[in-house]
Amino acid sequence: MSFKDLQLNKPILKAIEDAGYIDPTLVQEKTIPLVLGKKDVITSAQTGTGKTAAFALPILQLLFDKQDAPKKGKKIRALVISPTRELAVQIGENFKTYGKNTNLRSTVVFGGTSIEPQIDVLKKGVDILVATPGRLLDLHKQDYINLDHIEILVLDEADLMLDMGFIDDVKKVERLCPETKQTLLFSATMPFKVEQLANSILKSPERIEV
Ligand code: AMP
Repeated sequence: MSFKDLQLNKPILKAIEDAGYIDPTLVQEKTIPLVLGKKDVITSAQTGTGKTAAFALPILQLLFDKQDAPKKGKKIRALVISPTRELAVQIGENFKTYGKNTNLRSTVVFGGTSIEPQIDVLKKGVDILVATPGRLLDLHKQDYINLDHIEILVLDEADLMLDMGFIDDVKKVERLCPETKQTLLFSATMPFKVEQLANSILKSPERIEV
């Protein structure tokens, strides 16, 4: 299967080509069509399998398709929650790489560092936000983040997120997003507590294991 078979549009295909990717990985092949089909999805896949692009590419495609021109809105439309700063930064870099030929704007917010520069970027407006849970809630509490227009929520590394004690934060964030959103959950392992979280949040999810 090629990326073209996955129904991705030209600006995204061009960015993939520039990244040097030839074919989609297995997790991408299985996940991308379901995300484009607006399904809730649970994917168990390790880091290194190409799972970041498995959610980043179809998210860019979905938001790009529905984009109103000119794009000046301040609505955050996709939210990715990641347990650590390092992972969040990597995901943010992926969105920039794959989205470089779209005018979708993305940023990353995480704790342990000055909040002001993050507030400045948020004030200008972003379409896609990648965040660690604590800083996200902090910025929300201070009214710099509005989650009322989230169309797609991604919980990345869900097992790690729970191991790190973020369960209540994750649930809180989920409740702040609209009921109608599409939710994607990625986890390297699927212990019972991840299943429980998935069952409490996702709606009739499709399951993918690689
Ligand atoms: P991830 O599992 O998301 O951490 O991705 C692991 C690495 O694979 C990253 O360095 C990506 O840039 C790379 N990658 C993702 N998708 C592909 C692909 N289809 N072909 C080649 N490399 C890829």
